[in-house]
Amino acid sequence: MVRAFIQKGFSFILICCIVYAGYIGVQSFFRNPCALPKTFSVGPIDPQFTISKETVKLYSEEAANIWNASYKENKLLTHVETGGDIQITFVYDERQRTTIKNERLQRTIDEEKGELSTIKETIDSLKKEYDALENTITAQTKAYNARLTKHNEEIEYWNSQGGAPREDYQRLERAAASLETERLSLNANIARFNVLVERIKNYDKDHNQVVSTLNEKISTLNQNTLREFEEGTYDPNTRMITIYEYGNTVALKRVLIHELGHALALGHVEDKEAIMYSVNQGKSLALTAADKEELMNVCREKTFDDIKESLRTIRDDIFLLLKSSLPDTTAPQE
Ligand SMILES: [Zn+2]
Repeated sequence: MVRAFIQKGFSFILICCIVYAGYIGVQSFFRNPCALPKTFSVGPIDPQFTISKETVKLYSEEAANIWNASYKENKLLTHVETGGDIQITFVYDERQRTTIKNERLQRTIDEEKGELSTIKETIDSLKKEYDALENTITAQTKAYNARLTKHNEEIEYWNSQGGAPREDYQRLERAAASLETERLSLNANIARFNVLVERIKNYDKDHNQVVSTLNEKISTLNQNTLREFEEGTYDPNTRMITIYEYGNTVALKRVLIHELGHALALGHVEDKEAIMYSVNQGKSLALTAADKEELMNVCREKTFDDIKESLRTIRDDIFLLLKSSLPDTTAPQE
């Protein structure tokens, strides 16, 4: 009698537990995951990063406030001194070393670009000099040849007359001396012109060399920097944000916003300028429309349509799993 009563009581408690667990399960499914703020703290920072914990705290709060400002219902993220739901930590490894190398490479590229524009300016000014000198030489040659022809004709005439009178002879001698001066000046200009041509050639060579090494460096840098958001990660199991690298303050703040976004359960979006895009290539700290849409999609109460969608996804997954485990009927028999 007593035993049966205990058994009934136990069964009743068990049923109550199952109903309660079911209620909690259903309620948690429908509940808005953003209704309660998540807390975060800044954990250990590897000293090799040369950034203080205080600065990281400041940047993290700034990153959190960017999400907070986009959600009107309540605060999404709050900073706490220790512990909290999410911990941010900095781990120094090859990634940050590469980033520092990239930063150096970027500086070299900027310097070489400056050098290139100086060479280009020099070449342009030498080419102007080249054009002017070429015109001078052409005009000078034409004038010299005309004078020389006239002078020779006159000499020929006086020779045919058996000699020139003294006055004409002296005039012709002065003309010959002046022609010689003109010839020397023309030759000097031609020599200057040749030197100029050599200088332009050398500068052109320098220019091409700098362009080729610059292009190599730019392509290396592009390969190094166009990566997935691996500057940081968010591990949902440990609720840990780990930062591995950052090139500059803006890049670091973008990584912090991105990883805090993941901590809020946001996924990646397609917009290339968005903070939640898989590659950190934008330059702005503002959320794009795609980021805000993703936030709104996560931070809301679920509806029956969401249950239907979840069930549909599970059904499709099971279907795919069964399909892949079945033998391929179209395969030829041996
Ligand atoms: Zn990501």
